[in-house]
Amino acid sequence: MKKENSILTDSFGREHNYLRISLTERCNLRCTYCMPADGIALSPKSHIMTYEEIYAIAKEFVAKGVTKIRLTGGEPLVRKDAASIMEKLATLPVELAITTNGVIVDKFMETFKKCGIKAINISLDSLDAIKNKTITRRDYFTKVYDNIEMLAKEGFQIKVNCVLIKGFNDDEIIDFIELTKERPLQIRFIEFMPFDGNKWNMDKLVSLEDILKQVYAHYDASSFVRLDGKPNDTAKNYGIKGYKGTFAVIGSVTNPFCDSCNRIRLTANGQLKNCLFSTSESDLLTPLRNGKSIASIIEKTVGSKQKIRNGMDTIEKFKNSDAHGKNRSMIAIGG
Ligand code: SAM
Ligand code: SF4
Repeated sequence: MKKENSILTDSFGREHNYLRISLTERCNLRCTYCMPADGIALSPKSHIMTYEEIYAIAKEFVAKGVTKIRLTGGEPLVRKDAASIMEKLATLPVELAITTNGVIVDKFMETFKKCGIKAINISLDSLDAIKNKTITRRDYFTKVYDNIEMLAKEGFQIKVNCVLIKGFNDDEIIDFIELTKERPLQIRFIEFMPFDGNKWNMDKLVSLEDILKQVYAHYDASSFVRLDGKPNDTAKNYGIKGYKGTFAVIGSVTNPFCDSCNRIRLTANGQLKNCLFSTSESDLLTPLRNGKSIASIIEKTVGSKQKIRNGMDTIEKFKNSDAHGKNRSMIAIGG
């Protein structure tokens, strides 16, 4: 029999201690790379986990060794009971973090402080208000930018997530890095990933290599440094000497970080995904509602995780759109 608090280990020996919970499929932005133009079919409200169900499932994961929970979405903060959920999850012995588009983070400052949430990831894909409106299909650039400045001043650890798309914002790489000169932020450039309906193709990809080429061309080799990462980091970390912040690249397409993956994802409708690219999901919500144990489903789902990107271990397999067709868009999975 497995002992309580045993870490969820897959067949490749990877221990899963990091749970990402999507609070909602809804969002106040419509980012083109995340959502299909005609939106997504939302799950009926009765299929979305309630506050109590989120807590019950999270508690089960904590009993199985999870030590970090990140709230995501959709936009987690548009959920009406987001503050109560944060407060409840903060009673668990975990590091609580959040990924948000930043539009309404100013309304949650006190909640974050009360819940001990220090690490906040905020998405911002362009430093140009017009381009930002194009990519998000909404006009909130100034609000998000000001909120990032405000949170940084308040001492939160801010990571700015920037999805790079060739010909759209790859001319802003150096401008983003320059933000770290005076601010203790981390800019994280994310390689554009394919999901159902997001019109991905390889030509739109700005790779880790493309990014580093620009960095080498702009900065003196002696001022550019590779920084050590944490053991389960998805990102390769870099810095410019003398700058207060750092930057990083999440190269899920050209440099997958699956070897050290410790993540498991719970969608807003209570489905467990053992990989961001997994095309299958395990239903935790129905058995929970029927008063059944979910422990063995969690173990089986982690146990069946594939070694690399749900079996897409080569770039050729990854480029095959059929392999992604059945994977819901990022807004439904929770990034
Ligand atoms: N709404 C929140 C936000 O935008 O930060 C949280 C959810 S969003 C799905 C989480 C992260 O996924 C964001 O940083 C977003 O930029 C990223 N993302 C969404 N679609 C993506 C894609 N196709 N490729 C790479 N990153 C993507
Ligand atoms: Fe909304 Fe975040 Fe997706 Fe943009 S990336 S549409 S903000 S969930």
